Amino acid sequence: MDISYIINELAEDRENYFNAVSPPIIQSSNFVFKTVGEMRSAFADEYSTYLYSRGRNPTVDILRKKLAALDGAEDCLVFNNGAAATFAAVLANVKSGDHIVCVDKPYTWTQKLCNDILPRFNVSTTYIDGTAIENFERAILPNTTLIYLESPNSWDYKLQDLKAIAELAKAEGIVTIIDNSYCTPIYQRPIEYGIDLAMQTATKYIGGHSDTLGGVLSGKKEMIERIFNSEYMNIGSGIQPFNAWLLIRGLRTLPARLDRITASTNKVVAYLKAHPKVESVIFPFDENFPQYELAKQQMSGACGLMTFIIKADTINQIEKFCEDLKHFFMAVSWGGHESLIIPKCSGIQPAVFDTSNREHRMLRLYVGLEDADYLIKDLDQAFEKM
Ligand SMILES: *Cc1c(COP(=O)(O)O)cnc(C)c1O
Repeated sequence: MDISYIINELAEDRENYFNAVSPPIIQSSNFVFKTVGEMRSAFADEYSTYLYSRGRNPTVDILRKKLAALDGAEDCLVFNNGAAATFAAVLANVKSGDHIVCVDKPYTWTQKLCNDILPRFNVSTTYIDGTAIENFERAILPNTTLIYLESPNSWDYKLQDLKAIAELAKAEGIVTIIDNSYCTPIYQRPIEYGIDLAMQTATKYIGGHSDTLGGVLSGKKEMIERIFNSEYMNIGSGIQPFNAWLLIRGLRTLPARLDRITASTNKVVAYLKAHPKVESVIFPFDENFPQYELAKQQMSGACGLMTFIIKADTINQIEKFCEDLKHFFMAVSWGGHESLIIPKCSGIQPAVFDTSNREHRMLRLYVGLEDADYLIKDLDQAFEKM
């Protein structure tokens, strides 16, 4: 399906709402029935009907149809945030006694789910270096029911070979989930590689304006229906109509924003690589990236996020660099209009800072929608003052 069609036309029944270009926000908790029979069918199959907005809602459905189509999936659910999507997807695919194989250093709250919550229900997790398929083969146990991927990772951009892992998992009857937040389905389509569930946060690129949260889970209808009727309804973590409307609005400009961000990111990467105070830059579409070939093979683009390792003798120099930036805001998240920076050393106590540890000198940049030269000038003046 054409991306332009998905974004501008798919699922929009404009004749049903005065031919308005922008869809209405159906801010209603419940829906009315004319007959007892209709109400009875709704109770019997909430997945197929409007009954109550913890389940389905017409504004949310427009977004669902678009996002499922972008993923090339049969259906999707949209959650109030990405962490909720991961929670529902994982919970739906494990029971007491099961085992998960998960890539090293997944998103913080994925890790907390596996480390803090699941063990209470007798579900264990093995973390592996996902860059080699043999590591998956070795980690799979007779009770493994789930493989959790994140490719690329959002700090070191490590990739997994999605096709190979999907094949391995299918042969073993194991469900696969990927956190596809870095790429979005515009730049990587995991369902086409055979991955069962594609999760992404919509808070980042889909929303695109740092004004709402959202999370997406796409897959086969049978799986999505099962999750809808259980975890989605029970946890009650579906997105609200107004936030869904913001995400529909964000989607309109997604490809255009990614084009712009890609062009600017390439300029910023080139600038950083040439800078004497930069030890190295980690970016999947950089020729020196260890998995460059795989990145080019399974991703059609990379943009926005990169990590660089700054040459610094003290933590103070790194702190000063970050604080001297005027246009890169120091904040979490990414995917919005505004460029951002997070120093890895903000997660450690100054006393344990060790300059010989590359990780302590990591800075993650997100390149937003500002002019590339405007951003480079900002980096330049901050390096100058170091
Ligand atoms: C932000 C993020 C999430 C969580 O999404 P929320 O919408 O913040 O809950 C998950 N994975 C990755 C890689 C993220 O960057």
